Amino acid sequence: MRIFDPHIHMTSRTTDDYARMAAAGIAAVVEPSFWLGQPRTNPGSFTDYFDSILGWEPYRAAQFGVVHHATIALNPKEANDPRCRPVLDLLPRYLDKDRVVAVGEIGYDSMTPEEDDAFERQLALAVEHELPALVHTPHRDKAAGTRRTLDLVKASGIEPGRVAVDHLNEVTIDLVHGSGCWMGFSIYPETKMSPPRMVELLRRYGTERVLVNSAADWGVSDPLLTVETAEAMLAAGFDEDDVDRVMWRNPVEFYSQSGRLDLTGVTGAAEPTFAGSSIKRGGE
Ligand SMILES: [Zn+2]
Repeated sequence: MRIFDPHIHMTSRTTDDYARMAAAGIAAVVEPSFWLGQPRTNPGSFTDYFDSILGWEPYRAAQFGVVHHATIALNPKEANDPRCRPVLDLLPRYLDKDRVVAVGEIGYDSMTPEEDDAFERQLALAVEHELPALVHTPHRDKAAGTRRTLDLVKASGIEPGRVAVDHLNEVTIDLVHGSGCWMGFSIYPETKMSPPRMVELLRRYGTERVLVNSAADWGVSDPLLTVETAEAMLAAGFDEDDVDRVMWRNPVEFYSQSGRLDLTGVTGAAEPTFAGSSIKRGGE
């Protein structure tokens, strides 16, 4: 079984996670830039973060045989902070970099006018840089946020097949299904989607244009929930090809639209090479 997690924040995870992921068959990941919990106070703190997820993190992933790409954006939450907004002007030079496979996460947090503006400007950047867009839907007022997201996507002129609308659930799937956009689902240990709920949606809606991710980050989350969902699919009667489509070929197809997805390093469920490798240990 080969697995591609299309949305995971590895910068918040440990090398133990990489080792467990690689051993379970997770061979590729995409790390969207997002909020770090602690508010950032200046654009320089974003550029250091972007450099880290484009430089240090792929290097760290490679020690475990995991291929790592990133998406770059000003996230919806910090789009509201006037100290952070100047980062919008710095995005173009990052969007030209090799390992950047989409603009994201963009979208809504609290649906403010500032968020409208940042979302709109970044969709325009996606069109300009010929990149797909990864869109976060809000955790509060999810249905209204998803509707407003689709309106803005439509108005932007971006091709819907180049947009993934993420963090969907049973309520919001109907809004996105039929829009032409990709449908992203984050599987969490306690809240949002669980593996059985995801399997039920795959049964009802099929496997086309579906992306399943762990969205693991610094909160309560689990990088192996993609694997658990794949196993739940098999137990529910989906075959290996269905699992491969959802867990590998779909994310490959979506991010390949960037023209930059490079999977030449994929070795399948590689053995971690941490022991004896030159990777720096924490604190060094
Ligand atoms: Zn995220």
